[in-house]
Amino acid sequence: MPSAPTDQFLTQLERDFATGFLSRDPTELAEYGRDWTRVFEPAPSAVALPRSSDEVAQLLRRCNEAGVAVVPSGGRTGLAGGAVAKQGEIVLSLARMRRMEPLDLNGSTVRVQAGAVTEAVHQHCKSHGLTWPVDFASKGSSQVGGNIATNAGGVKVIRYGLTRHWVLGLEVATASGELLELNGALEKNNTGLDLRQLFIGSEGILGVVTAATLKLTRLPARQSVLFFAVPDVAAVLALFRDVRRMPFALAAYEFFTERCFKRVQRHRRLRSPFDTAHACYVVVEIEDADAAALEAWTESLFERGLIADGTLAQNSSQAAELWALREGISESLSATGLPHKNDISLPVAKLETFCDEFEALFRARYPDWEICLFGHIGDGNLHVNVMKPDGLDKAGFLQRTSEVDHALFELVQKHAGSISAEHGIGLLKKPYLGYSRSPAELAVLTAVKRALDPNGILNPGKVIDV
Ligand SMILES: Cc1cc2nc3c(=O)[nH]c(=O)nc-3n(C[C@H](O)[C@H](O)[C@H](O)COP(=O)(O)OP(=O)(O)OC[C@H]3O[C@@H](n4cnc5c(N)ncnc54)[C@H](O)[C@@H]3O)c2cc1C
Repeated sequence: MPSAPTDQFLTQLERDFATGFLSRDPTELAEYGRDWTRVFEPAPSAVALPRSSDEVAQLLRRCNEAGVAVVPSGGRTGLAGGAVAKQGEIVLSLARMRRMEPLDLNGSTVRVQAGAVTEAVHQHCKSHGLTWPVDFASKGSSQVGGNIATNAGGVKVIRYGLTRHWVLGLEVATASGELLELNGALEKNNTGLDLRQLFIGSEGILGVVTAATLKLTRLPARQSVLFFAVPDVAAVLALFRDVRRMPFALAAYEFFTERCFKRVQRHRRLRSPFDTAHACYVVVEIEDADAAALEAWTESLFERGLIADGTLAQNSSQAAELWALREGISESLSATGLPHKNDISLPVAKLETFCDEFEALFRARYPDWEICLFGHIGDGNLHVNVMKPDGLDKAGFLQRTSEVDHALFELVQKHAGSISAEHGIGLLKKPYLGYSRSPAELAVLTAVKRALDPNGILNPGKVIDV
């Protein structure tokens, strides 16, 4: 079992690495020891801030020899407690490793250090008409290393797929301090197991991503953003079926309920584009659409009774205002209450039945609870947020939510879904992994972890117990 470092070990690190490499400042410990979950109390013993891959490798070698636990840390926007350090671990932050190389315009790639911020990569590529299509509300803080370690999804998955599809090469520091260069900038490379894929989505339990060669795609010339109001989830799905039949490049199909909308309006003071309230709302983004075809389609939606109301953004600032209604939800739920978050996915074909059964379950067992439902419904992903009722204290609420989670995940399992669509397992969902992974799969995961990190120093206690 790995342990917290001794004072002597930390002092030796301070002597052997450059000044400022290690911080023991209490404010920094509190900051770097937590992620967005805000459920766990941070208690790391130090924060290491390397400037190069070699420093990362050297630190890991030393920690491995001494059996010291290390928590890899990106932008700490994770929602599963994966970057939390609560047992005296050393936090290994990639925050100082943000270098981005010039773009390779022939290969449409860019190599960046793992600490590069997601949105900074977008900006870096923009003037060349290219982008890295990993996109979501936390892109201003999340890092490429964190995106890769969580195989992040987001609002554009329906068009571009998950982060995994946009990583050509990886540089990874192993627990024993080796630097692996995996796949370089190769599109094709069938030389045995693709080890790169093992580290994508591994939540820091197998190795530390230090750099990556990212695959880029063309920035669309035009993005049309539409906002619709519909009466229920069945109508959200009917509209989805309709837009998918159109000859449009559908880039995003996001939905949220009136309860989410109210909290965003309260927190962000945003106005609704509609005069009346509706049960559900949908944000649709379409790339490079023919304006006349888009307008004709929107008009036909009214005529065919597929929407209760709708609007098409006339310019980029209106588009940003409409997107803010959806992207402000996570933050607004946390700012206006205590949400218990779940991030589930279902086969798209099962969504309607699942939502009916889910509603019936909550109506019967938790009639007074406020459920804020939103998500990337176009790829089967629902964010189920249960808000703490005023009459319950935090401890009582957390106890009840565990009971709710079992009921919810039984339903997810019944419909062959996943208990974590894109946020990962971390600490938060570890007790429930068995709803999505069989005992045989868990045995393979454990064997892989033991092979790559025999002393168990990397992110101990996260994802699986070994
Ligand atoms: C408002 C908001 C909206 C969000 N929307 C989405 C969304 O739409 N889709 C989505 O997928 N996620 C979403 N997230 C979750 C989060 O932003 C993503 O999971 C993101 O990819 C995490 O990146 P990070 O750099 O913040 O990682 P962190 O939170 O720092 O870490 C996440 C995990 O990765 C590990 N890790 C971090 N860096 C490395 C590294 N270099 N090497 C190895 N392991 C590492 C950590 O140990 C941890 O287990 C959202 C979060 C917020 C707050």
